[in-house]
Amino acid sequence: MTDTKFSYPDTRLLIDGAWQAGAEGKTLDVLNPASGEVIGTVACAGRSDLDAALAAVDRGFALWSAVSALERSKIMRRAAELLRSRVETIARILTLEQGKPLIEAKTETLSGADVIDWFAEEARRTYGQIIPARVPGVTQMAIKLPVGPVAAFTPWNFPINQVVRKLSAALAAGCSIIVKAPEETPASAAELIRAFVDAGLPAGVINLVYGVPAEISEYLIPHPVIRKISFTGSTAVGKHLAGLAGRHMKPVTMELGGHAPAIVFGDADIERAVKVLAAAKFRNAGQVCVSPTRFLIEENVYDRVVDAFTEAAKAIRVGNGLEEGVQMGPLANERRIPVLEELISDAVQHGAELKTGGRRIGNKGNFFEPTVLSNVPVEAKIMNEEPFGPVASFRPFRSLDEVIDESNRLPYGLASYAFTSSADKANQLGLRIQAGMTTINHNGLALPEVPFGGVKDSGYGTEGGSEAIDAYLTTKLVTHMSS
Ligand code: NAD
Repeated sequence: MTDTKFSYPDTRLLIDGAWQAGAEGKTLDVLNPASGEVIGTVACAGRSDLDAALAAVDRGFALWSAVSALERSKIMRRAAELLRSRVETIARILTLEQGKPLIEAKTETLSGADVIDWFAEEARRTYGQIIPARVPGVTQMAIKLPVGPVAAFTPWNFPINQVVRKLSAALAAGCSIIVKAPEETPASAAELIRAFVDAGLPAGVINLVYGVPAEISEYLIPHPVIRKISFTGSTAVGKHLAGLAGRHMKPVTMELGGHAPAIVFGDADIERAVKVLAAAKFRNAGQVCVSPTRFLIEENVYDRVVDAFTEAAKAIRVGNGLEEGVQMGPLANERRIPVLEELISDAVQHGAELKTGGRRIGNKGNFFEPTVLSNVPVEAKIMNEEPFGPVASFRPFRSLDEVIDESNRLPYGLASYAFTSSADKANQLGLRIQAGMTTINHNGLALPEVPFGGVKDSGYGTEGGSEAIDAYLTTKLVTHMSS
């Protein structure tokens, strides 16, 4: 690991086009979750840095909102190309700071480029309407305008993906933005933003800060310059920030936690279901808001599915994400380990059977065993709280109505998965599961062109699909009587 240590960059703030240290000179250490070693530092923004970023984003808005959609689109496409050309370096940085296998880090980087391209196209389609007037000589136009400077807060599980969805939609709409990216995984988010700077984005249009998340959000959200908030993270923090934004009349997009049901009926292609669900479960060590977490299996195939899934979990190669063939890296943060241990021991105390896993691996790095729990009672905490780790909890069910009730029991409503060969069941699941997304017989989530968002406590607004850009636009009426 010694040589890779030197290639990891220290991360600076980006304010008004300049990469800089925080004015107070404070930094935080960045750790490699595979070793626990300090690999670099990230600069922390103090109040004067935030004031400078606010002044810059205000100027950036005046500038960028006046750039034509075609020109915005061209700069964004250049950024996407730069990101693709730098994938090897960026993916390595991402793996070093976040832990995910290099192949996942590459996919995340390249998908980021696809997201930029997709929004670059959307930039050119923010159509308004001409509304037939009641009076001759009057023209009524509903025009779409950028909402204003944005403050975006993003987490550490997908350091590039979480930023790129907000950033690309905002820039496509003509908004400027301050990104508060994750302190745990700062450098890959900074590399994403560097691609935009190098592509020719004017100074001030994107500003990047790190620091104490609560201090930054409490200052930026109420600030009069900021006109739109977007947050991805836990439901508890999301509710707090949505409340703060509400008090200051700011529109919000909230992409929060989930506890996704993964339903398998006896008539499904079981082999495919297990393969797709195991891949989805252990991707990024389960630290994914749309990760399948409550596995609900029809009783006539219950044992078969649990056994096959347990075998799949046991076969996963856990290790340093930089090593060839590793399929699951460490958890990004050490603080997640005691939480998972507690959830697993609580489930076992409630009568669940631990089929495999359940423990930390070794004492260096945040490695955790892929874990399968069977016959988990709904009273166990893990059936109610988002595990956010490599743990799958299984329960049998008897009927369609029963499994829909269980799916809808929790306040969450983000992703849901189902496997069945019955068109009628598929149709009912698609309509009746209370979730922002239901994917049936495959994993079709999170493409740039499809909606991505939740209902209930999982948040509101979509970060994908043709509606995503609307979150960064306002509709204005211009009515004009010819003189
Ligand atoms: P956490 O609740 O402390 O933080 C979650 C994220 O919110 C982090 O990125 C953090 O920097 C940010 N944050 C926290 N307080 C904030 C504030 N006052 N203002 C602005 N940002 C703030 O949890 P954690 O230990 O980092 O992660 C574990 C939990 O977070 C999980 O249970 C999961 O529900 C949630 N989470 C969700 C996602 C997602 O993709 N929806 C991503 C990461 C974490």
